[in-house]
Amino acid sequence: MRRYEIAVVGAGMIGSSAALALAEAGMTVALIGPGEPADKSRHTGAYASHYDEGRITRVLDTDPIWADWAAKSIARYAEIEERSGIGFHTPCGAVRIAPTGAASLARARKTSERFDLELQEMSGEDLTRRCPAIRLPENFTVLWEPAPAGYVNPRRMVAALKTVARQSGAVLIEQEATSVRTTGEGVEVLTSDGEAIGCDRALVAVGPHARDARLLPLLPDLKPFGRTVVQIEVAAGDPAFHGMPSFIVAFDSDTANYGFYGVPPVPYPGGGYWIKAGTGGIGDQLDGSDTVRDWFHAGGSAEEARQIRDTMFRMFPSLADARWRTEPCALVETDTDRPLIGRVPGHEAIGIALGCCGFAAKSCIAVGKTAADMIASEDWAQSAEAGPLAPRWRD
Ligand SMILES: Cc1cc2nc3c(=O)[nH]c(=O)nc-3n(C[C@H](O)[C@H](O)[C@H](O)COP(=O)(O)OP(=O)(O)OC[C@H]3O[C@@H](n4cnc5c(N)ncnc54)[C@H](O)[C@@H]3O)c2cc1C
Repeated sequence: MRRYEIAVVGAGMIGSSAALALAEAGMTVALIGPGEPADKSRHTGAYASHYDEGRITRVLDTDPIWADWAAKSIARYAEIEERSGIGFHTPCGAVRIAPTGAASLARARKTSERFDLELQEMSGEDLTRRCPAIRLPENFTVLWEPAPAGYVNPRRMVAALKTVARQSGAVLIEQEATSVRTTGEGVEVLTSDGEAIGCDRALVAVGPHARDARLLPLLPDLKPFGRTVVQIEVAAGDPAFHGMPSFIVAFDSDTANYGFYGVPPVPYPGGGYWIKAGTGGIGDQLDGSDTVRDWFHAGGSAEEARQIRDTMFRMFPSLADARWRTEPCALVETDTDRPLIGRVPGHEAIGIALGCCGFAAKSCIAVGKTAADMIASEDWAQSAEAGPLAPRWRD
């Protein structure tokens, strides 16, 4: 039986980052998880949240914990790109837009002071002057966070993280885990090809499969949700989109985080440049791996796609006749809007890093490091970080 100090189950954004941090700390690590399915509409195994070419990166946040994770992660992008030879970061800037006077703007400004961000504040008309394709309603305020804010390519970022984790000594096992259970000697992970992998401790970081009872003796209290994104095609080199930042818009003053978000035109596999946009979400709740599979097979929600398209065409009127398409995605929400990172009570050799909401693509390097510290540490529960991230459980 192959044996490691730590097995990380789930080779997505958090698992790859945690495996990197553990390998860099000198531990023997297996990173267990498959790559992206070739055909998501027929695949019957594991899915991930990160199958995309553009995800917003920014420090500006209403939650200082997320802002801190983002700043720490962004600080490592260039080094990981260089070591892996895989570029994933485009520092085009990111804007947060809300009705003038909204509380979310005040909270974001406060974060910007703490992180010394050289935020530029402007009106909707100022933004249109900088990026002619964008139209905003009157009386909206724009906070522009300059580079290195922008977007990351999550597919390429995971590839880069896996490459650097392997360079640092982690062993990648590209199989699904079919069971994770404690034994007299630690933890045994069974994989879909029948291998049993032994380890002292296991970290479960399986994204939307967070409520797969085969992988955890207790199920965490979190909510995987289906999400639908819309991509709209933009002519290559269209000057109206030149210099466009990533954007997060709260159309009403009460929206705490975001109601609508998107990434500038990005080349997608299959050709063309596409703006990607989504909402805070009206997707279905997914409880268990069968519902995750059914959601990806169904291809997303037509109602959510319609709402996103309508908003897109209002914000980018020149795209009204452009080609568009939808993609299904899934993310995991928690009551605190923060991930659950901690050990399973009664099964202390197993830990979780789950429930990363819609925020961890940009911040995965630091969230993964926090998860690595948790699973490697003897006294994590006493640390200052443990309390705000402590898992709750629900069968
Ligand atoms: C539509 C959408 C838009 C988003 N936009 C942004 C954004 O703009 N900026 C941002 O920062 N974040 C964004 N996010 C959030 C971000 O993508 C997630 O927070 C992040 O991917 C979570 O990482 P993870 O490792 O928890 O999950 P994932 O990246 O999903 O990785 C989980 C991994 O577990 C594996 N797995 C599952 N089951 C098993 C098993 N049985 N055995 C082995 N492996 C298994 C999967 O194959 C997968 O690789 C967005 C998410 C969505 C859905």
